[in-house]
Amino acid sequence: MTAATATEWETVIGLEVHTELCTATKLFCGCANNFGDQPNTNVCPVCLGLPGSLPVLNRMAVEYAMRIGTALHCTVQSSLFHRKNYFYPDMPKDYQISQYDVPINADGWLALPDGRRVGIERAHIEEDTGKSTHVGESGRIHGADYSLVDYNRAGVPLVEIVGRPDLRSSEDARAYVDELRAILVATGASDGKMEEGSLRVDANVSVRRRGAPELGTRCEIKNMNSLRSLGRAIEYEAARQIAILEDGGTISQETRHWDETLGRTSTMRSKEEAYDYRYFPEPDLVPIAPSAEWVKAVADALPPMPADRRAAVAEAAGMAPDADPVVTVVRLDLDPLLNAAVAAGADGELAVKRLANEVAAGLEQASTLDPRAFAAVVGMESRSELTTAQARTVLKELLEHGGDPAAIAKAHGFEAMAAGALSGVIDQVIADNPGEWDRFAAGEDKVQGFLIGKIKAATGGNADLKEASALLRARRG
Ligand code: ADP
Ligand code: ZN
Ligand code: MG
Repeated sequence: MTAATATEWETVIGLEVHTELCTATKLFCGCANNFGDQPNTNVCPVCLGLPGSLPVLNRMAVEYAMRIGTALHCTVQSSLFHRKNYFYPDMPKDYQISQYDVPINADGWLALPDGRRVGIERAHIEEDTGKSTHVGESGRIHGADYSLVDYNRAGVPLVEIVGRPDLRSSEDARAYVDELRAILVATGASDGKMEEGSLRVDANVSVRRRGAPELGTRCEIKNMNSLRSLGRAIEYEAARQIAILEDGGTISQETRHWDETLGRTSTMRSKEEAYDYRYFPEPDLVPIAPSAEWVKAVADALPPMPADRRAAVAEAAGMAPDADPVVTVVRLDLDPLLNAAVAAGADGELAVKRLANEVAAGLEQASTLDPRAFAAVVGMESRSELTTAQARTVLKELLEHGGDPAAIAKAHGFEAMAAGALSGVIDQVIADNPGEWDRFAAGEDKVQGFLIGKIKAATGGNADLKEASALLRARRG
């Protein structure tokens, strides 16, 4: 595929994200919901699907699902459970209890950090299956020597979030999952750990000629377990489809498996249709009909979402909500430190910069960083009592050892230069280096570094170099 042909095609992506809920117990029984326990220790007749056992719905799972729906601007509504029938060894009942045509959350949206909205078709509750491990060279069921199954995961509550096909690139898809993960964690419903399988992403990918009104035929890709593999899988799949179409071929709708090592997708199964599953209402469960009060109580109790927090940080810093330092501060949960600094009178922009750089770099120590001490350092820098380089040094030491910022600054000999002192130093430097000054004055900018170096040396590093540059340039006239 040449670059020219790539620009004639548009990639269209819709993601289906499964998230495990952080409940203490499973969706329909009292077994523990714990990742990493000894296989087949958290099981009972209900989650093993033994005859005569009956499901009892976990109220907290419903509440978490409502939190997710609310955070994604969905309508939270009365809903039904269905049985989705199919055989697979890791699903002991031979059907999965899921929500089909009447999900608990419908029709919402998620805003990417740059403000673009991605539609959410639905976010419904369902139970997880057990986990199969295929032992053998292939690592997959085909060609396995034997397979092991762990039912600890069978019956763990999931919410499946079905996004609309509004994403247009692998970067979009990654940004969407990143934001969704942050929202899920903020609601408290999920730990968002992709590497432990508590967040699993299936990608539907199609391509079409730019400007074409209809969507192309899609393939669904499974088995990506990091944002990086999600991006790679989408890129590979789009290129594969474009090559087929440019060759005059057609795309057949199917589920494809992403192979991380080979870096490609391959056919898993052709698309199954809903009627293959013979969905029917689950006769052992009544509809979920949350009261208006419950829906409101859940909405009222939601903490601020990442987008709200970015807006607040952006406002305090006078930056755009998708500026890198703003995104970093919220991603790393450093906004309480910003608020403390601003409340103590420090400059918001400086505080955000110090948090996104020095504090982010020493993140292990950030939790022990005293907000008042942080505010004090940024305050000293705001008032030009410390230069940027000095503030960084003090902050680094504060992160490593704690202490009093003023005392640290003093110990380093960082003394505030009296107002006007810098001007005198500059007079001296000009007098001592007349040749260099004449060249600088005549417009030779590269000499500035030399003169600044002299100023720095003359002040023992205590000068605000930004101010020194400004003064030098002003002298030039
Ligand atoms: P199904 O009922 O077969 O599961 P849906 O219409 O519910 O199909 O779509 C499932 C997922 O596929 C959604 O996330 C949706 O955004 C995505 N999707 C649908 N059509 C396309 C397409 N042509 N290209 C890419 N993604 C698509
Ligand atoms: Zn159980
Ligand atoms: Mg669907």
